[in-house]
Amino acid sequence: MRLILLGPPGAGKGTQAQRLVRKHGIVQLSTGDMLRAAVAAQTPVGLQAKDLMAAGKLVPDEVVVAIIADRIGEPDARRGFILDGFPRTVAQAEALEKILAERGLELDAVVELKVNEDILVRRIESRVAEMTARGEKLRADDNPAVLKDRLAAYRAQTAPLSSHYAGKGMLKTVDGMAPIEEVAAAIDRILGRGKAAAPSSRRRPAGRKPARKRPAARKAAAARRAVGKKSAAKKAARKGAKKGRKKAVSAAKRAKTAKPARKSAAKSAVKRRKAGRKSARKASSRRRLTKRR
Ligand code: ADP
Repeated sequence: MRLILLGPPGAGKGTQAQRLVRKHGIVQLSTGDMLRAAVAAQTPVGLQAKDLMAAGKLVPDEVVVAIIADRIGEPDARRGFILDGFPRTVAQAEALEKILAERGLELDAVVELKVNEDILVRRIESRVAEMTARGEKLRADDNPAVLKDRLAAYRAQTAPLSSHYAGKGMLKTVDGMAPIEEVAAAIDRILGRGKAAAPSSRRRPAGRKPARKRPAARKAAAARRAVGKKSAAKKAARKGAKKGRKKAVSAAKRAKTAKPARKSAAKSAVKRRKAGRKSARKASSRRRLTKRR
């Protein structure tokens, strides 16, 4: 499964991505996480990205495209991936299409989490307050002032992606303001629908029983079956009678041809008996002659 999660900062992309990773055994490819790792490791990419990120601006397209092109090719991404935070511009989306086409891969879905910006700002502010209260380390761009710039960058550069994917018939929208479980269920329904539409699926769509016949139609069908049974029985009887007749005829034929055979046997027996008597008479006359001599 390969999908893109779209949505402004704080829309809940990360939360849903982690759940989908567990559910489908695929990897989450977050360009934000990769860039933060690069910044921490002070790689050339990290050094280039550091200030832009801290200011809530986007890192150049070619930098993130190169990172994603490499990452998609790694073995753990073979089963599928969720792109979180990428693409962020139409140019990145086009670069991704090229990368996937070159590798014979396709996207299953582009899911956009729709959110209300005002509520979003309050959400992130309370998240920042909670993390500070717990003594957790904040991201460099996790402050209300930078958040405004991140949202502005989203509106200007990333929001046009919705119409880009809608134009391709790939965009699915989910209400990102709903509770986490409801958002999760909505995403699952979208992903499930994709599977049901697969040509290999022969089963009837879930929840739809085959149309039941009306009582009158059922009665008519039963009557047709009964008539069918009757005529079948008649046919069998006719067949049986025909067979019987045939048997009788052939028996008669056999009897006819058998008679002459018996007759001739009797005749030959008579003949044999006659011949026997004749030879016996001859023998006794011979005996008489020899006695006389
Ligand atoms: P957010 O929580 O705002 O969605 P991310 O963690 O995805 O942020 O990204 C943090 C920062 O990393 C962004 O504000 C931006 O500077 C940079 N960044 C991440 N992904 C991209 C991208 N695809 N293109 C350009 N810059 C990116």
